[in-house]
Amino acid sequence: GRVYALGITEAGGGTDVRANIATRAEELGGGSYRLEGMKYFTSNALYASHFVVLALAGEEPALFLCEKQPRIRVEPLDLSGFRGSGVGKVVFDGAVCERLTEPGVDGVRAALGYINVGRLGYASLALGIADRAIEVIVEAASSKRVFGKRLLDYQGVQWRIASIAARRAALESLVVSALAGGGRVDPEKAAMAKVLGGELALEAAWSAVQILGGRGLAMWGEAERMYRDAKVIDIGEGAKEVLMDYIAGRTVKKVLGSRG
Ligand SMILES: Cc1cc2nc3c(=O)[nH]c(=O)nc-3n(C[C@H](O)[C@H](O)[C@H](O)COP(=O)(O)OP(=O)(O)OC[C@H]3O[C@@H](n4cnc5c(N)ncnc54)[C@H](O)[C@@H]3O)c2cc1C
Repeated sequence: GRVYALGITEAGGGTDVRANIATRAEELGGGSYRLEGMKYFTSNALYASHFVVLALAGEEPALFLCEKQPRIRVEPLDLSGFRGSGVGKVVFDGAVCERLTEPGVDGVRAALGYINVGRLGYASLALGIADRAIEVIVEAASSKRVFGKRLLDYQGVQWRIASIAARRAALESLVVSALAGGGRVDPEKAAMAKVLGGELALEAAWSAVQILGGRGLAMWGEAERMYRDAKVIDIGEGAKEVLMDYIAGRTVKKVLGSRG
């Protein structure tokens, strides 16, 4: 089967996507284009059979589909989080690709459609981290005794569990409601879910490390891995601050816009 990777981010940064597209596509005719450029932080790059790539066709951002070929070189990136995601740098050295977006269709907007789905994916990863963190905390705190009683019997531990469980339930509802419009993801709710997902995952993973104590800091232990992965949720698919700006903008517009 096919494995896809989505190459949007470039060396200049992933926040201001439009300003940082340096990958160029030269038309060859018959719907084919030759791509020159580089993409950074491409998930699945190490395993991909096909790449969906944002590049400039003339001055217009467009999406291209490139099958893996000798003129595409993939270099692994040694990141602290998402180490199983095959994240890499992808170099297009004259790769022959087909155009996905019609002339006149903005490739950045089209790419953002994929990103909204990705944001819900990241929020769902946060749900998984929260679930496992609760298990780790309960298992560790129920088997440890301090000052004559189980760690689990201390309110400081119980409230950590309650906080993670409550936020996890709220996030799950938000993810479901972002998908309520049939096949279309609600972009505002997807942004909210990713922001809250980053916060939840960090809180949950950090609590697991804390309750395990010094053992929680062991390199390549489960809790510290959750923490490294949780931090990616804050950054990947659009950094938290950018999404906060977007959510604030939409919220302010709803209030001021309704006053005409
Ligand atoms: C594990 C992983 C997988 C990824 N997978 C993919 C992929 O498959 N395809 C792809 O195209 N990209 C991918 N990315 C890239 C990701 O989308 C970018 O990392 C993200 O958009 C942020 O861009 P940047 O890292 O270049 O940060 P920059 O754009 O350099 O920004 C740096 C920091 O500036 C801060 N910042 C930015 N804007 C504001 C603001 N308005 N106000 C205040 N602070 C701000 C944020 O804290 C941000 O983290 C991946 C990244 C990671 C870490």
